[in-house]
Parts: sequence; structure tokens; C-alpha cells
Amino acid sequence: MSRTIKFLDLADQYHRIRSDIDAAIRGTLEDADFIGGKRVGKFERDFADFQDAAFCIGVGNGTDALEIAIEAMELPKDSEIVVPANSFIASSEAVTRSGCRVVFCDCDPKNYTISISSLKSKITTKTSAILAVHMYGHPCDMDPIIAIAEKHDLKIIEDCAQAHGATYKGKKLGAIGHVGAFSFYPGKNLGAYGDGGMISTNCPSIAKQARMIANHGRIEKYNHEFEGRNSRLDAIQASILSVKLKHLSDWTKKRNKIAKFYNDNIIENKRLILPTIEDWAYSAFHLYVISTPERDSLQEFLNENGIQTGIHYPISLPKLNAYRYLKQYNDAFFANDNDQNLLSLPVGDHLHETQTQFVASKVNEFFE
Ligand SMILES: *Cc1c(COP(=O)(O)O)cnc(C)c1O
Repeated sequence: MSRTIKFLDLADQYHRIRSDIDAAIRGTLEDADFIGGKRVGKFERDFADFQDAAFCIGVGNGTDALEIAIEAMELPKDSEIVVPANSFIASSEAVTRSGCRVVFCDCDPKNYTISISSLKSKITTKTSAILAVHMYGHPCDMDPIIAIAEKHDLKIIEDCAQAHGATYKGKKLGAIGHVGAFSFYPGKNLGAYGDGGMISTNCPSIAKQARMIANHGRIEKYNHEFEGRNSRLDAIQASILSVKLKHLSDWTKKRNKIAKFYNDNIIENKRLILPTIEDWAYSAFHLYVISTPERDSLQEFLNENGIQTGIHYPISLPKLNAYRYLKQYNDAFFANDNDQNLLSLPVGDHLHETQTQFVASKVNEFFE
């Protein structure tokens, strides 16, 4: 028997919900209703209810969701969108691909979401929007972001790819700002068995525009208002996601329970910082990220003990070759230095109590 504690175990999850998943897939195959149709419509409505958004539009993946969401707001070409320096490249990629310019700001050193003071310092007359990434599942501090946006007449895009079911001051994410984007990449908290994504908004005109962009700019079959693209959530994925959505609240609770267990049982020291949960936050805990200058040796030690870990992300966005041209790699950002220190411990719904106890004890042993 393998004693490996896996970082992610999607096969284990499948086996726990297998009969419902198999029935959902079989039903779709038998109806041969693969693109659009009742399953996609149902999942869009259910997800909109779950996230407290007026409108949800299924798309091909989370990156497309961001890109189409930005495009749907028709921001001035070449205007600037402020993006936090520690995220997955999709956040900034979507900005450039939709015809805007990326300006990086720092992240908060405590909760790793967008730093409010750094965000303020990056706003210019060219800024058109703020990309608030709910990093690791922890919500951004939305009230000051909304205040900044109102003051400078900016749009707010929420990157919720890691934050399904998380709340800010009791409110679900994705429609607090103007528009939100979710990913259903298999490893996300709500994952499909392939790619998938969702755009969320309370604004009818953004919803209408996004839906048209994602489906060839069409108003009805063969009647196209403008050139759009093809980015759609397919019915097999939607049927799988509908099954999984019913479990999401429980899975998120379990992630929070594990995170609390780590926070209570891993002993912080000068060389080890545990994640902060702000009092405004119910985190989705997509990732449980610790910070230590001894990251590489700790990772090796845990690996030798059969504990899989991850690094999110090993290179801050401004330091990637893709963003050399912005010349922000030397900016005195916490995010530019701290990428060396980040380590993600296992936090998924596949874990058993004895396993999380083992993880905590091994981290403590390393620092003894
Ligand atoms: C996963 C992710 C995305 C992109 O989602 P895909 O479905 O993989 O395209 C965007 N932003 C963040 C923060 C992510 O973690």
C-alpha cells in the first residue's frame, strides 16, 4: 500500500461520487445534446444561484472567462489594468489578449491577495480596471477596491478561479465587482473532467455582450452582430459539474477544517509563516500556502516522508520572460522576493485526519 499523501487525488473523489457522475455522463450521451442545451442552461442557473450572481455564462475555460469578461466591458484599447504580481499567468494574459496593458502591483504580505496601497500607487489616468484575484481562495479586501474604483471610475474584474464558494463579509464572490471569472480546470475546487469556465455578473449588458462574444457574436443562429469567437462550456462537463456542485459546500468546509487544523497545530516560528485568514474572509482554501526561507529543503524533507507539496507560484509574474518588456522584475515587491519562500501543503477533500496530522507533525519536526 502506498503511503504517499497526495497533493490532489481526483480519482479518489471520482470513486466517492461515481454512480452520479456515470449517470450524468450517460444521460448526456444518450440525448446526444453536446453543445448548449438543457444541461448547460441548468448548470449556469445553478451556479448563478450558488454564487449569488444574476447571470452566469459558461465558457471554454477560466482564461477565456477572464478574457471575454474584459472584452465584454469594452474598455479603451491600450488602457491599463492593474494586476497583482503573484498569480497564475492567465490573469495577466487575459488583459493583454483583450487589448489592454498589464500594470503589476504588489500582493499583501499577509493574505497574498492584491495589496491595496500598492494598487493605489499604480493608478494613472490610463487605468481602466482592476483585476482582483482571490488568491489561493482567500477573498480580496473588496470594500477599499470598490472605493478606489468609484473614485477613479474603474471597472473591477474578479478572478475567482481559485475561490468558488468563498465569501467576503458574507457575500459570495464574482458579482461584487462588475464581472467575475471562474475556472473549472480539473484541479480547481470545482473541477470538470476537462476544461471549463464561467463568467458571472449582475450587469445585464455585460452578460449579453459576453454571451455573444463567446458564441461567434451571434444573436440567433446564423445572424451575427459582430465577430466573436467560439468558447463554450460543453454539456458533458456541465452535467459533471452539476453533480459536483452539490458537494462543493461540504468540500469547502473540509478544506477549511484542514486549514484550521494546520493553523492550530503547525508551530509558527521566525522561519515559518502560516496563512492569515482575515476577519472579512471565508476562504475557499484552494491552496494552503506557507512561507519559509527554507522552502526547498522543507519540500525535500516532506517528499522523503511521502508528502506531496506544490509551489504557487515559483516565479512571480513580473519576473517571467513573458513580462520582461514591462521592466517590473526589479520592483521592490514583496511578491518578487517571496516567490522563493512559498510552499503549498495538501488541503483537498481526499485527505484523512491521520494524514493531515502526519503533515503537521512532519512540518514541526523539520523546524525542531
Ligand atoms: C486556473 C486559473 C486561471 C485559469 O483557468 P483555466 O481554466 O486553467 O484557463 C486563472 N486565474 C487563476 C488565478 C487560476 O488559478
